[in-house]
Amino acid sequence: MNRRNFIAHTLLSAAATSSVTTTSAMPATTPSVVTTDASTLMSESVPPKKRVLRIAHLTDIHVKPDKTAEEGMARALKSANSLNPKADFIINSGDCIMDALEKTKEETEAQWKVYKSILKAENTLPVVHAIGNHDIWGWFSKFNGLQTEKLYGKQWAIEELGLPKRYYSFERAGWKFIILDSVQLNQAGGYIAYLDVEQYAWLENELKTCAPNKHICIVSHIPILSMCSGLFYGKHEPNGDLLTKRNLMHTDFFKLKNLFKNFPNIRLCLSGHIHMQDEVKYLGITYYCNGAVCGAWWKGAFQDFPPAYAVIDYYDDGSFDRYFVNY
Ligand SMILES: [Zn+2]
Repeated sequence: MNRRNFIAHTLLSAAATSSVTTTSAMPATTPSVVTTDASTLMSESVPPKKRVLRIAHLTDIHVKPDKTAEEGMARALKSANSLNPKADFIINSGDCIMDALEKTKEETEAQWKVYKSILKAENTLPVVHAIGNHDIWGWFSKFNGLQTEKLYGKQWAIEELGLPKRYYSFERAGWKFIILDSVQLNQAGGYIAYLDVEQYAWLENELKTCAPNKHICIVSHIPILSMCSGLFYGKHEPNGDLLTKRNLMHTDFFKLKNLFKNFPNIRLCLSGHIHMQDEVKYLGITYYCNGAVCGAWWKGAFQDFPPAYAVIDYYDDGSFDRYFVNY
């Protein structure tokens, strides 16, 4: 059993009574170096933090009618459903299906059918969804006339996944979760990662009206800030610049960063899309890009990252821990 498998195995079999020690005993990422006075560590005046929530963050499943993809999705869900301590819910941050952007109605229907039937068969946890670019129907279709279809664009995913809206929020156990819609159509071709005017105004209001004692976790399909967005292509421009693109990280990052600075209770931002894992700590907020359940679109690992999902423990003091399970 290699170290990664050991971590996954331990996580799955850890006893419910060992909540805090379990998590701190097996960091999946190298802890940052922090110097502190030893007496602080011995102090008994600090009450122990309490874990209030555990979520399984699955992203970029990219399922389609195909044995490898179907079995892989089923295995990931089985694993996420057997965590101990149990997950309170699943966050799926998008790209549930392989692709609807360029596909016909029949092909899109077949993919959603597989997604829904595996979810029904292998999962008993509540699932919270964000919309991924590949969940959007018809934007890049070569067939004309789809624009007038009732399910065109994001509507199909909204209905299929039972979303209240393309972006929304909810509160649970002292944490507020804000689920964003990262993907906007570029009329000149392709898509761009940013929040449209209406959504930005909504987000600003959500942050302003959130009680300051609630901790905030923001979820987007495309990372708001990510280091691996710049590594996705693993290539350089002819002049030597790293090749990155406007559909790999939020192009409104500076605007969002300036907004976030007013709200110190924003703790964590979660994303997928890149199929790579990273952790960026920037101006008091942690940004986790959490890999992909499908790895390299069901063809093994993408760059250095095998198929995986993340487990996140949330604490009452606004802190959190993350582990990866190579299911
Ligand atoms: Zn994506």
